[in-house]
Amino acid sequence: MKNKIPLHVQIIIGVVLGSLGGVLFPQFSGFVKIFAQLFLKLLKMLVIPLIFTSLVSGVLYSKDAASVGRMSFKTFVYYIITSLLAILTGQILVNILKPGVKASVKIPEGVDVQHLATNFSYSDIFTRIVPDNIFQSMAKGEVLPVIFFALITGFFILKLKTEHKDFLTEFFESFYSLMMKITEFVILLAPYGIFALLYKTTAESGLSVFKTLFFYFFTVLSGLIIHFFITLPFLGYVITGKNPYAFMKKMITPLLTAFSTSSSSATLPLTIKYLQENVGVPNRIAGFVLPLGATINMDGTALYECVAVIYIAQCYGIHLTFSQQAVVVITSLLVSIGAAGIPMAGLVMMSIILKAVGLPLEGIGLIIAVDRFLDMFRTATNVFSDSTGALIISYLEDKDNCCPGL
Ligand code: ASP
Repeated sequence: MKNKIPLHVQIIIGVVLGSLGGVLFPQFSGFVKIFAQLFLKLLKMLVIPLIFTSLVSGVLYSKDAASVGRMSFKTFVYYIITSLLAILTGQILVNILKPGVKASVKIPEGVDVQHLATNFSYSDIFTRIVPDNIFQSMAKGEVLPVIFFALITGFFILKLKTEHKDFLTEFFESFYSLMMKITEFVILLAPYGIFALLYKTTAESGLSVFKTLFFYFFTVLSGLIIHFFITLPFLGYVITGKNPYAFMKKMITPLLTAFSTSSSSATLPLTIKYLQENVGVPNRIAGFVLPLGATINMDGTALYECVAVIYIAQCYGIHLTFSQQAVVVITSLLVSIGAAGIPMAGLVMMSIILKAVGLPLEGIGLIIAVDRFLDMFRTATNVFSDSTGALIISYLEDKDNCCPGL
């Protein structure tokens, strides 16, 4: 007999049971954790070969450099606009709700703020792109250099003699299909993996942290909800005319995976798979727009950075002037571009903005307790923005054949 419960329903059951299980029976989390780690590892195992082969194939499908250039331009414009919209949503909310003014929070003991501070500089974003050694970058899971190497590999394959070009095109397409096949298998494990991840999270973090940080949590979450359910769907609908909530439903499995793994990078195999198969976004677009998006387009992270920094200033009773808030907006954008698609990357990058506006790094300690939970919501928002981007680019590239799945 075939399995009758649809996969996304199984995943929702996994989310609910996992969250409850962790709260009610935290003593078993050591055992459940093993499954959570295995599921995460299976996803991560696919990421680098998938990014590499999907981007090379994406360039090769496009046939010429001009169309890659055109698509990249549209992609970047979309990324910048949506990230700025997200940041402004957060900025307006945090200025109206003023969660920090009402707060009475202390830095929790044992938080090593210096350890969280990162020695990042803006020039790093650019110099990190070119690898010293591509195998080392792959082994370390550094996504930006791998993207760079994949793009130039694809570009120069197009310049080869026909026999070599055809051979390599076939090779990369086959390799990409293989990665997608393995992804199909990992997806079957998603309900169990997600159950285990949520079990571990609620068992380890507990729910009491919400008491002191409720207003801050509520402000970030409201911003994310507005961006996720109103701004992005509105943009998608105005440009493509497709029903944005039907689209959201088609993407429910990757969205819940993003929520439970807190990693856009680890979710990437599923995001690509569902956009191609459920929505009908062509390979050349999904394989191109999504790996870039998982690394540099992080609307949820950008919104959260902005709210968190202004909240920290409010807690310290510091009024940020208009120009200081403008610095927060710009650095939030840059930081969201530079943050890796891994859990809590946004928190680590926070130190850059705090330094930029001259706030104490200890401020990170004020928000750390609920970060694990906010990370889940912002990662789902990041992945939804990448997906909406792929839908929009797909429509702009070929209006008549866009998205048979919708
Ligand atoms: N966890 C987020 C992501 O993977 C990044 C962040 O920490 O905000 O998209």
